[in-house]
Amino acid sequence: MNFRAVGTAAAFLAVYVLLDRISFIHQFSTLSITPWNPPAGLVLALLLIRGPGHAPLVFLAALLADMLVRDLSGTLLPSSLTALSLAVVYAGQSHILRRHVRFDCGLSRLRDVVWLTSSSAVASLAVGALYVGIFAWAGQVSWDRLIPAATRYWIGDMIGIAVVTPLILVLRTGWPGRPTPRDVALALLQGGAIALALLLVFGLRNADEFRLFYLLFLPLIWVAARFGIVGAVLANLLAQIGLIIAFQTVGHESTTVTAFQLLMLVLAVATLVLGAAVSEGRRSAAALQARQVELAHISRLSTAGEMAAALAHELNQPLLATMAFVRAAQRLTGGDPADRAKARAAMDRAVGEAQRAGDIIKSLRQFIGRDHLVHEPTAPAALVADALALAAPEARRQGIHLQAAIDRSLPDIQVDRVQIQQVLVNLVRNAMDALNAAGTQAPAVAVSAWQDGADVVFAVADNGPGIPEDVTGRLFEPFNTSKPEGMGLGLSICRTLVEAHGGRLWLDRSEAAGTAFHFRLPLAPTETA
Ligand code: ADP
Repeated sequence: MNFRAVGTAAAFLAVYVLLDRISFIHQFSTLSITPWNPPAGLVLALLLIRGPGHAPLVFLAALLADMLVRDLSGTLLPSSLTALSLAVVYAGQSHILRRHVRFDCGLSRLRDVVWLTSSSAVASLAVGALYVGIFAWAGQVSWDRLIPAATRYWIGDMIGIAVVTPLILVLRTGWPGRPTPRDVALALLQGGAIALALLLVFGLRNADEFRLFYLLFLPLIWVAARFGIVGAVLANLLAQIGLIIAFQTVGHESTTVTAFQLLMLVLAVATLVLGAAVSEGRRSAAALQARQVELAHISRLSTAGEMAAALAHELNQPLLATMAFVRAAQRLTGGDPADRAKARAAMDRAVGEAQRAGDIIKSLRQFIGRDHLVHEPTAPAALVADALALAAPEARRQGIHLQAAIDRSLPDIQVDRVQIQQVLVNLVRNAMDALNAAGTQAPAVAVSAWQDGADVVFAVADNGPGIPEDVTGRLFEPFNTSKPEGMGLGLSICRTLVEAHGGRLWLDRSEAAGTAFHFRLPLAPTETA
């Protein structure tokens, strides 16, 4: 037996007894049934995390708590039997969840929350029935009070499980990084809203507390919608503690408290379900975004592959010029001093040409290479210049005039440079494809950009044939293409990339005189970016 196991067992026993002690309020007749039974939640969390093999420890804890918290004289046998039934039933439940339904102890999916709550409803019903049955058999409770007693037991255990088990399970695995100061401020505000709702429910004299109870739904739903499952478990805990404090201060009788706990149970389960759905939705949106970044990378590779021939041709020029200048310099060195000056000039031009070739290669490498996002302040004019440099060789080969009219004084935008370049390159290449296919006279593509409020709008316009009718309806859908070799992914990727930056992309016009696509990007980054 190792120290860790002993430590866990001792901590479990201590926390169990403590929870049992502080929750031992408003009990039902002589039976120790309380409207709030957090030890049940602790038991289930232990059995789910550590396995049903820990049932003996649960039995021990239940018996120990009975001895320390309540007077056991005369009820040792029924108490042992109820402790046994508690351990066996919850161990059985945890066995089924762990082995047969692929239950995730981090409650990462909605289905895990549904499994946890529905199986707990059945298990605690069984534990409650056994509990009152055993005490009735021992003559401690009259048979006609069995059903109310079992119902109360069920509510107490269920609310204990609904509040405590998810709290332990979620905080153990899923504490979400460091919260931002904004999150902390919002969480405090939401905590305040829960307190205010409790105050309204219980603080107003003569008010109908049951009717006002529904006010508590608002802050809890708010927390779950904003912070997902982590928010849900914390909000449930806060609301439950607030309720208990309110019961103690206002001094309700046990029946009313139990009725409130039933409402609280409904609220806790609703909050958990919403929190889990929100967390699951966020995770799949993040996964989708990651897939789209991958897809954008792959599409960039294929675009770059297609551009490579034209770029290789373009690179040839500065390299040939470099060689010519170096050769001239070789011939000139060693001659008279005037020749040496000419030689130096030739060397300088050689360096300049080599640099130009290097720049072209660098921009191609950047375009291909990166698959993670880097948002940095970028000048719109530089962005367009880089994108056009990549498309220029092909445009020259096809005799298409590329022009850019960008005001250099436009403010910087916060973007991933490579991705927005990819959008521009895609739009320009689409325009060139259309011009080429239609054999347009004096083909031209114009790229422009201007500021519009807090956005910069980019436009890519051509004087081509316009978009084919059969394509327009589903223009931005994937695999929609009019080209024999087309993939039909370009525009859908462009739209995804722009929207990931908090912007928007749309078809501005498409007519016989030409097509124009516009997209706008915010100057300051938004939350979605
Ligand atoms: P792909 O280029 O692989 O076909 P896109 O999603 O980039 O995929 O484009 C979808 C279709 O939209 C193209 O096949 C073409 O018919 C049409 N299209 C896009 N841009 C233009 C344009 N500037 N002029 C005419 N048609 C265009």
